[in-house]
Amino acid sequence: MDNRLFATRVQPDVPSRLDGLFPQLAFDDAIKFTAGAPAENLFPTEAMKQAYLAAMAKEGPHTFQYHTVQGPTELRERLAERARTRMQIESATVDNIMLTAGGQQAIDLVAKLLLNPGDAMVVEAPTYVGALSAFDMYEPTYYEVELEADGLNTTQLEDTLKAHPEIKFLYTVADFHNPGGVTMSVAKRKRLVELANQYDFLILEDTPYRDLRYVGESLPTIKHFDTEDRVIFLSSFSKVMMPTLRLGWLVASPMIIKQLLKLKEAADLEVPNLTASAVNEFLANNSLDDHIKALNKEYRVRQQAMVAAIKREMPAGVTATEPEGGFFTWVTVPDFINTTDLLYNEATPNLHIAYVPSKNFYAYKNHTNGMRLNFTGLMPAEIDDGMHRLGQLLTEKLTK
Ligand code: PMP
Repeated sequence: MDNRLFATRVQPDVPSRLDGLFPQLAFDDAIKFTAGAPAENLFPTEAMKQAYLAAMAKEGPHTFQYHTVQGPTELRERLAERARTRMQIESATVDNIMLTAGGQQAIDLVAKLLLNPGDAMVVEAPTYVGALSAFDMYEPTYYEVELEADGLNTTQLEDTLKAHPEIKFLYTVADFHNPGGVTMSVAKRKRLVELANQYDFLILEDTPYRDLRYVGESLPTIKHFDTEDRVIFLSSFSKVMMPTLRLGWLVASPMIIKQLLKLKEAADLEVPNLTASAVNEFLANNSLDDHIKALNKEYRVRQQAMVAAIKREMPAGVTATEPEGGFFTWVTVPDFINTTDLLYNEATPNLHIAYVPSKNFYAYKNHTNGMRLNFTGLMPAEIDDGMHRLGQLLTEKLTK
């Protein structure tokens, strides 16, 4: 078929950004630091089974009917309460919350809401690859702002805004960054809102890992500091419950919600009511906070193993972020090492370890000396073993 028949946004000959993200491994025994998925043995499987049955029993055939674009009221009430008490979003009400098909759909709908082809937006460098996939479809011009140990570089951001006042949108993962592992400081959260007010742009605050904190105290959301309705706050049930629910939820001003509902209606009418009702039953009959506590207890052991292994195994010249929560740490190696080549030529075939190389996480930049390492999908002994192998490999490279 002639490519002429496709819309230009599709670029049929360009592979998806997610292609090749998880390298195909020829070895079953490989230690995979590649995971992006939550640990299955920690899913609330039994409680959800009961919740599905309870949802069907309560509503009968009506469970399977069309419902509303915005999502069930009772669930939105619970989420508004959660947003007010856990996310410090005092403005959250049943009316300015909507449900989406995972956080991913919310990212897509927000991009659709804001971006005409060529419009200017800011992403962190590195950033979440799935967000780039969604944004790409609206053909924006990206401006990449570097990520530092305490979140995006707001000085560099301001310079970029001065040079490009047409910037209208910024996407950020402020808590336990994917892939960077870092968390934005409170000072930068406030600064970001000030800059949005001053330079007139909107912010999408994407927080799927926010509840997964293993050390330290939770920080207020960016949305908490929002004074002019410029922040769209996004959360998801994928990481704290299970991804297949495909349920995300966002909080935004009524004006933004109104427009997003038009887009949601056009895309798929509504989230599946059976799922939404089952999650509502789960929340009514279980403590999500207790479930999250149990997750954090288990994930903390793995995070501690990773932090210790980095200190023990990484040679001088290699740096790593120290995540306080979430799924990932980000390792930077000297720039003469190309982490894609290292993965395919040595790490995987010789040492049976795998990670995701940095080149995948940038809008335009050709960043080749980083790697994303997941620690939540592995047991401490595997982390120790895998990091020992990686440390030996890097030591060998650096002493040659
Ligand atoms: N945002 C970030 C930062 C993510 O890491 C992910 C999943 N990897 C998502 C959004 C999308 O997740 P979901 O659609 O399952 O909510």
